[in-house]
Amino acid sequence: MRISENVSLRSYNSFGIGGQARFFASFTSTDELKRLLENPPLPELPHMILGGGSNILFVHNFFEGILLKNEVKGIEVVREDDEYVYVKAGAGENWHRFVMDCIEHNRAGLENLSLIPGNVGASPMQNIGAYGVEIKDCFHELEAYHLKDHALVTFNNADCEFGYRESVFKRKYKGQFAIISVTYRLSKHPKFNTTYGAIEEELKHMGVHELSIKAISQAVINIRSSKLPNPAEIGNAGSFFKNPTVDAAKYAALKEAFPNIVAYPVANGDYKLAAGWMIEQCGWKGFREGDAGVHARQALVLVNYGNATGDEIYRLSQRVLDSVQEKFGVELEREVNIV
Ligand SMILES: Cc1cc2nc3c(=O)[nH]c(=O)nc-3n(C[C@H](O)[C@H](O)[C@H](O)COP(=O)(O)OP(=O)(O)OC[C@H]3O[C@@H](n4cnc5c(N)ncnc54)[C@H](O)[C@@H]3O)c2cc1C
Repeated sequence: MRISENVSLRSYNSFGIGGQARFFASFTSTDELKRLLENPPLPELPHMILGGGSNILFVHNFFEGILLKNEVKGIEVVREDDEYVYVKAGAGENWHRFVMDCIEHNRAGLENLSLIPGNVGASPMQNIGAYGVEIKDCFHELEAYHLKDHALVTFNNADCEFGYRESVFKRKYKGQFAIISVTYRLSKHPKFNTTYGAIEEELKHMGVHELSIKAISQAVINIRSSKLPNPAEIGNAGSFFKNPTVDAAKYAALKEAFPNIVAYPVANGDYKLAAGWMIEQCGWKGFREGDAGVHARQALVLVNYGNATGDEIYRLSQRVLDSVQEKFGVELEREVNIV
């Protein structure tokens, strides 16, 4: 629980952005967090909770605050009935390792979310999702520590107000809580979800005849490994932008102007547009300026080829946003947390 000063940020964010944090400490329990909060090196500085750093862009060369890395560990079954197993995981557990643990114990629900980087504690922050599943589908509750009131609060599914890459922790309670643990409700009787993306094709390719959560997880791992840039090789934070939603009238107008537009219907007659397609149409795919770029195969992913600054990546994201607005009249929103 040592507090270090002027700590390099590079190894704490998947973009590999350099710069320093004024203070840095990690905690492995609520008690340790409480002690850190009660004895700050400089009381006026802000705190920020850090997980795996895979959804963050540090835009300033210096973070004038106290970075608190959550390393609360542990995976335990807290309840069980005929249908479900309730598994509580420490916020500092690696997400993929947690998913693998569920699969090993034949607990279904999170297999489509295999290989998403980051830690368990951040999973409800933006209701992580992939291949037709979002964590809200299996989320039971979480415990979060209020950084000012020092109270441990339990949030159930409704309390979190989950939306598409959204929750109360990104909105009204932004920066107020440290999530300490998350409990997932996992099924003993899996309902397989293979309709999204290339899962079925990959299962066929793998020669799978009998469906299982393990096979689906492996299919997702194979697809993700072949499609997404590995942050260990090239700095990135996954999808930089959200896929925007438009109403039916706007969609019809876009469809007329751009017959190949990629979109799919969602609730209330609205349509979700593929932001990656629009970015590609604006000519950004594979763009590089200095060490900041747009990935050559995934236009939704901004990358750091080595020594880009957070500010350079941010300014590139603004140019992408502006050009999509100009060409399509659609405003993109950043998915990545800007610090
Ligand atoms: C290659 C790649 C692929 C990705 N694919 C996907 C995908 O398919 N789907 C998807 O949804 N996301 C995806 N992401 C984004 C990222 O993996 C998720 O958002 C992940 O949940 C971030 O976890 P983290 O621990 O790294 O969070 P961090 O980046 O450390 O933090 C993210 C935000 O959450 C806050 N935070 C973190 N932990 C806590 C805590 N315990 N308590 C309170 N606040 C906290 C931070 O302050 C910050 O605001 C991808 C990222 C990469 C690099």
